[in-house]
Amino acid sequence: MSATDKSQHRTISVNPDPDKLLASDKKHIWHPYSAIASDIPVYPVESARGVRIKLADGRELIDGMSSWWCAIHGYNHPVMNTALAKQLDSMSHVMFGGLTHEPAIELAEKLVEITPEPLQSVFFADSGSVSVEVAMKMAIQYWNAKNRPNRQRFLTIRHGYHGDTFGAMSVTDPVNGMHSLFADTLAQQYFVDAPACRFGEACNADDIAPLQQQLETNKDHIAAVILEPIVQGAGGMRFYSADYLRRVSELCSEHDVLLILDEIATGFGRSGKLFACEHADIAPDIMCVGKSLTGGYMTLAATLTTEEVSQTISKGDPGVFMHGPTFMANPLACTAANASIKLLLESPWQQNIANIEQGLIKGLAPCSQLHSVKDVRVLGAIGVVELHQPVDMKTIQPMFVEAGVWVRPFGRLVYLMPPFIINEAELGTLTAAVCQVLQSLKH
Ligand SMILES: *Cc1c(COP(=O)(O)O)cnc(C)c1O
Repeated sequence: MSATDKSQHRTISVNPDPDKLLASDKKHIWHPYSAIASDIPVYPVESARGVRIKLADGRELIDGMSSWWCAIHGYNHPVMNTALAKQLDSMSHVMFGGLTHEPAIELAEKLVEITPEPLQSVFFADSGSVSVEVAMKMAIQYWNAKNRPNRQRFLTIRHGYHGDTFGAMSVTDPVNGMHSLFADTLAQQYFVDAPACRFGEACNADDIAPLQQQLETNKDHIAAVILEPIVQGAGGMRFYSADYLRRVSELCSEHDVLLILDEIATGFGRSGKLFACEHADIAPDIMCVGKSLTGGYMTLAATLTTEEVSQTISKGDPGVFMHGPTFMANPLACTAANASIKLLLESPWQQNIANIEQGLIKGLAPCSQLHSVKDVRVLGAIGVVELHQPVDMKTIQPMFVEAGVWVRPFGRLVYLMPPFIINEAELGTLTAAVCQVLQSLKH
């Protein structure tokens, strides 16, 4: 492109004509898992407040997604805004190498306090995927420090999702995660089938046998088992047996393999417990949190581990943990997290989530009558309608917008995970819109 072409394009930012903005978006910007110049619509947002997202054309949508698990208090929360404005006045960022600050220390203390007791050491990462990379590196460095350098691989179950960077991808479901595309670059990990036992059911010997066998056969190469506890998110929105998770934890102890739990989606109340591992009453050796950590305000994640792991790494060769992001423990992000956790814990969150659970069960029940629907399931503030066929985004997305709701299906899954502050009527609008849109699709 010539210099004159570029200067002509600059007028776009001076004159934000909505059509031109959208044309520019389409021409230049990748959205998540999208194509450039895609004909699937994207909607310009003007603002968002509470559970409502206001589009540039003036329409207001009730939010059913919490911006992918994050915005648990809704948008533009006055308490969050005040906390961030105050922090902005003192500093938005300083490097974390050789410097420290109160927002990070306060957050680390709080995370140690509210997560399972053995987790005592905190590493701040800039996104969920990075916190998973960090967890995997911790496990490898731990075994290296214990003179077990062959333990560099990971065991997990199919249908998992742990993020989009290479380490995280390597333990994400091989089919959903398109492992074939990156075959020569991706680390080879051990996979077993996800358990068939659903949440609320017992787990029998057949359910756990594949994982048990892999551990027995390959434990000398396995640094850790990595799982999303109870809820498998982007890999299929499946809710599995707490008994299974308990068995996995026991097997890890028996075979002296670390357990990494990825609570990035489930953490901070979404499944009805503050952390989903509480359903099984277990504690991991390493835990990742992210997403709703900052109430959806900023990107921040954390990897927590035990003193056994952190001290072993610190005493082993090379004597340090080999990771340190530029924006580590960003003070604004830590402030958002501190405010969000305080808001959550001071709210009647168990009751709110129990109410949402009841509203989702009642409101989504009619969907199970539809021929297109394979399964309807609800856990905590997560409601899932699984279809027989994948949705056509180009058709279904505008239908939800027309119905006044923001619902973003993927594949065969239409699901709701609203902000915890949603009221009964708003939740009713969301579930009715899901039922009505699916019915009018008439598969
Ligand atoms: C979203 C998610 C991640 C990745 O987090 P990003 O912030 O998108 O990198 C990892 N694990 C789970 C379970 C997630 O839901």
